[in-house]
Amino acid sequence: MANVADTKLYDILGVPPGASDNELKKAYRKLAKEYHPDKNPNAGDKFKEISFAYEVLSNPEKRELYDRYGEQGLREGSGGSGGMDDIFSHIFGGGLFSFMGNQSRSRNGRRRGEDMMHPLKVSLEDLYNGKTTKLQLSKNVLCSSCNGQGGKSGAVQKCAACRGRGVRIMIRQLAPGMVQQMQSVCSDCNGEGEVINEKDRCKKCEGKKVIKEVKILEVHVDKGMKHGQRITFTGEADQAPGVEPGDIVLLLQEKEHEVFQRDGNDLHMTHKIGLVEALCGFQFTFKHLDGRQIAVKYPPGKVIEPGCVRVVRGEGMPQYRNPFEKGDLYIKFDVQFPENNWISPEKLTELEDLLPARPEVPNIISDAEEVDLHEFEITRGSGGGQRREAYNDSSDEESGHHGPGVQCAHQ
Ligand SMILES: [Zn+2]
Ligand SMILES: [Zn+2]
Repeated sequence: MANVADTKLYDILGVPPGASDNELKKAYRKLAKEYHPDKNPNAGDKFKEISFAYEVLSNPEKRELYDRYGEQGLREGSGGSGGMDDIFSHIFGGGLFSFMGNQSRSRNGRRRGEDMMHPLKVSLEDLYNGKTTKLQLSKNVLCSSCNGQGGKSGAVQKCAACRGRGVRIMIRQLAPGMVQQMQSVCSDCNGEGEVINEKDRCKKCEGKKVIKEVKILEVHVDKGMKHGQRITFTGEADQAPGVEPGDIVLLLQEKEHEVFQRDGNDLHMTHKIGLVEALCGFQFTFKHLDGRQIAVKYPPGKVIEPGCVRVVRGEGMPQYRNPFEKGDLYIKFDVQFPENNWISPEKLTELEDLLPARPEVPNIISDAEEVDLHEFEITRGSGGGQRREAYNDSSDEESGHHGPGVQCAHQ
């Protein structure tokens, strides 16, 4: 099932899907001013939509969910909280999962039940090697004893009290010529529109037509599957009479890995080496995701600069459905330099003779001022920049970086 690109929330704010936080904020401010209920009392819904769209898109987590999985991501992410449903239906229309469009209508003319979505956490090892796992879940199935009828055939009768409509309309006269119509759920049939005599009721399901059943699904996580990929079990969701069951959809959630970070089919890792290894070659081994020990050799004479990246071709993730093709493995080298005074001054002179020569000694003119270099802790921002600007309208643009030495006016 392909992800449907859902840009509705961006459309509401009139920005492109790649919009920056600043662009979002600006668009929101402008629209919120325009449609604020104080100014524009008839635009209440529009204002709610704008606020909702901004609330989602200004929150990095929600925005990511929405970008990746659209409306459904938000529902999942919000834990399906009831409070959001109003605005959801208002913006996206219809009930749950309506974004699936034609699917939710029907496959063969019958009403279609809701899909059931479950997250499935998987390790990077699972995604590398593939894995079969069993998932136990409880779902409604049609009662086999009454075939989902709720009782013997013919026992089901239209509710007389509501004439099968499930609701009753009551008319109250408030004043002469003035009536109030009230609609309430029929109490005789609990809104179902039909009744079954107690004695004819199915014993197994007690007339409920469905029973809970524990179902075990065998889930195949294939090599190379990705975070956010869906595994669909067609028609395995809750059954109900006259309704075509929806699907059970598992949404893969890749767990973080201690060693590797994944980027598509490529893997990234960081490896620490010492200065001697950086200059004189090295070898090391690491355990790959399938348990293999991989030996990495780098010959003497080749140099690793701090922070540089080297690639091992073909040691990344297997391609989905083509697992013999693999991505690449990128290794970033963190070069650990020796401590201060790690060597005696005499040895240092010897070392200098071995190292590449210094560039020409610069000419220091006699009236230059001499300064010292100090070590310091890197903190957030530099030189007095910690004070955060109080929120104000002009802070939209990045307020420029304070260079070191520029002091804040008031501390
Ligand atoms: Zn039954
Ligand atoms: Zn009724």
